[in-house]
Amino acid sequence: MTLNLYNTLARAKQAFAPIDPNHVRMYVCGPTVYDLIHIGNARPIVIFDVLFRLLIHSFPKTTYVRNITDVDDKINARALETGVNIRQLTTETTERFHQDAAALGTLEPDVEPRATDHIIEMIALIERLIESGNAYATDDGHVLFHVPSMPSYGRLSGRNRDELIAGARVEVASYKKDPADFVLWKPSDPELPGWESPWGPNKGRGRPGWHVECSAMSQKHLGDDFDIHGGGVDLVFPHHENEIAQSLCGNPGTHFAKYWVHNGYLMSEGEKMSKSLGNFYTVRELLEEFPGEALRLTLLQTHYRRPLDFTKDGLRQAKATLDRFYGALRDQRGVKPTVDAHPDVLAALEDDLNTPLAVRRLHGLLDDFNDVSRRDAVNGEDGALLSAGRMLGLLQQDPEEWFRWSPANANTLGEVEIDAMVAARRKARADRDFAEADRIRDELVDAGVILEDKPDETIWRRK
Ligand SMILES: [Zn+2]
Repeated sequence: MTLNLYNTLARAKQAFAPIDPNHVRMYVCGPTVYDLIHIGNARPIVIFDVLFRLLIHSFPKTTYVRNITDVDDKINARALETGVNIRQLTTETTERFHQDAAALGTLEPDVEPRATDHIIEMIALIERLIESGNAYATDDGHVLFHVPSMPSYGRLSGRNRDELIAGARVEVASYKKDPADFVLWKPSDPELPGWESPWGPNKGRGRPGWHVECSAMSQKHLGDDFDIHGGGVDLVFPHHENEIAQSLCGNPGTHFAKYWVHNGYLMSEGEKMSKSLGNFYTVRELLEEFPGEALRLTLLQTHYRRPLDFTKDGLRQAKATLDRFYGALRDQRGVKPTVDAHPDVLAALEDDLNTPLAVRRLHGLLDDFNDVSRRDAVNGEDGALLSAGRMLGLLQQDPEEWFRWSPANANTLGEVEIDAMVAARRKARADRDFAEADRIRDELVDAGVILEDKPDETIWRRK
C-alpha cells in the first residue's frame, strides 16, 4: 500500500513519491502570532500532525517545518491597539500557541523557524528576483513582484488574470506597474519593526511582506525542492501562489514543493465563524469546557478536504465517544500498544488521509477489544487499539487521567479531596459502617463523581 495524497497543483489524487525516499520533507504555514488561535486554525494543526505521524511511520526520516510569522501588519495593528510592545505580543502569543497545540495532542515540528530570524535570507531572495527581472524597487522603498514577468503565474489556484486582480483585493497603488503585482518588501516607519535593506531612503529601513517569509524559510530549512507544502485552502491564493512565484523565479531550475496539500474550510454551528454571530471559538475557551482530545477527535471525524461544520454538540459527542474508549482501556489496564500500526487504520490514512474511516475502524477495534473471546483472535494482540490510536494521536493518555479531567470553571471537588473521600468510604465499608459509606457516595454523586467498586479497589470518574 502506498500513500495517496490529493495534490492541489495536479487537481488529482496522486501516489506519493518522495524526492528522497530516505528523507521526506514537509513545510506547513504556521500562525501569525497576534491573537489566540481559533478552532478553524486548529484544523490544519491537527490534520498535518496526522500526516506527520503517517510519514514518520512510513519513511526512515521526516523533517517537518512549521513557521511562526512574527512580523506582519496584523501584529503591528494589534500592538498599537492594545499598547503591548510588539516583541512581548509575539512572544506571549507564540507561547499560548504552543500550549494550545500541545493540548490538541500534536507532536512538535522538527523546526519552527521565526520570520524575524530570516530577514537576511528574505533580502537575498528579493535581490535575486530584482536581478532576474521578476521584481522591481520603487523610489519610496517598496519592492514588488511583477506578476506578468511569470507566464505560469496562477497555476496553483487556476485563476485567470481578471480573477487574480479582483482576488488580490488590494488597492491599485500608484507604485505598482501592474495591478496584480504584490509586495515583497515595504518601507517601515520609525515606530514599526524594520531592518536595513538596499532599497528606499533612510538606509532602506523596511520589513518583508508575508509571502516572501515562507519562501525564504522553507528554502533555508528544507532546500530548493521538497515534498509537501501544506496549509488551509484559504492560503491557495494569494499566499501559496505567491510563494511559488517567488521561489521558482528566485531559484531558477528548481521545482519548489512537489505536493500541495490543503485542508477545507471550517464552519461553526452551520455558519461562517464570526465574532458577531457568537459562533467564534478560540481553542483556549473550548479547552476550558472540553478536553483537547475531544477537539482533536471532532476535527478528525470529517475528511480534511471537506468543509467541516464544527458544533459544540459534536464536541460533546466526541467527549462521550472517548469516554467509551477510555472506559474499555481502563478496564484492561496494562495493555501495551503493538509495535505496528493496525493495517486497516493505516490503509484508511494512506488513502488521502481518510481520518473518518480510520476513526470508524477504531470503533471496530473497540468492539473486538471489548469482546474478550474475539480480542486475541482478531487483533493478535490486545494493543491493536492503542497502536491504531497512536497513528491518529488518540487514546494515548492514562485512562485514569482522562476520567479525572474536569472543566476549568466547574465548581467540583479536586482530585485530592475525591481520593480522600473514596479512601474514607472504603474504610467505612471495611468497618461495616454502611450508612457512612452511603453518605460519602451520595456526596460524591452530587459533586458529579461516579464510583465503581472493583474487588480490591474503588475507581472513580467524573460524570
Ligand atoms: Zn506560508
